[in-house]
Amino acid sequence: SSAGTMVSEGARPMTMASAASAKRIRFEDVSVAYNGLTVLDSLSLTVNPGEIVALIGPSGSGKTTALRAVAGFVRPASGRITIGDRDVTNLAPYDRDIGMVVQNYALFPHMRVEENVAFGLRARRTAEDVSRARVPEALAMVGMSAYAKRYPRELSGGQQQRVAIARAIAIRPQVLLLDEPLSALDAQIRRSMVDELARLHRDLPSLTVLYVTHDQSEALTLANHIGIMRDGKLRAFGDAQSLFRYPPNRFAAEFLGRAN
Ligand code: ADP
Repeated sequence: SSAGTMVSEGARPMTMASAASAKRIRFEDVSVAYNGLTVLDSLSLTVNPGEIVALIGPSGSGKTTALRAVAGFVRPASGRITIGDRDVTNLAPYDRDIGMVVQNYALFPHMRVEENVAFGLRARRTAEDVSRARVPEALAMVGMSAYAKRYPRELSGGQQQRVAIARAIAIRPQVLLLDEPLSALDAQIRRSMVDELARLHRDLPSLTVLYVTHDQSEALTLANHIGIMRDGKLRAFGDAQSLFRYPPNRFAAEFLGRAN
């Protein structure tokens, strides 16, 4: 709360929070079970402040479950999740200061772009005047200012996903969770969106990001560290280069090699 007090509100609002105020995400021995079946098995993982960590791994390996546990949509059977110094394990989703973007946009079809972006702010009871400033600011960050009055159906897939990202960052979350945000897009748009996400992260250096993807090249381009999951377990973790050079086990080697 102290960071950025030297900068007047409105001057460079989205970059106000300095990297020093960035928040670490930490999983401590987190397990999640569905119907008695363990799908996340003693996950311990740290996303350092301002970093992007990508979780990759086969379908069903528990990546989305890990993300949903941070978001508060699933309650761990055991273990602890902290954001900064806060134990969020038992907090309601809206109390966690988290922005989230999922695969299929999930924009409200009957709301204009600006109303979609305002929705998350309203859900958090943000004051109306703050909301009026934040919406255009967030749309500008994703290059969608000109589309504020449009409806989702009037936008391309890539544009819809930009709006979804604007909606997530409008609340100025300390943590951004991205679950396959680009996988519904075609290859060429996906590549340009990867560049845009990289730029967005440069503009928001204090944002700590957990990124689930099945696309290795996205992980390699964007992530500071990569975790490889299998059967609910984190099987490898490291920076991209060392993971490729020195995969810690055969599964990691085969997974990285196969998808290359
Ligand atoms: P990934 O994101 O790596 O594809 P998920 O985290 O989505 O994997 O799923 C991990 C496992 O948990 C899978 O076996 C999946 O079927 C199961 N699972 C996920 N969500 C639910 C749910 N709501 N109810 C029951 N099982 C679920």
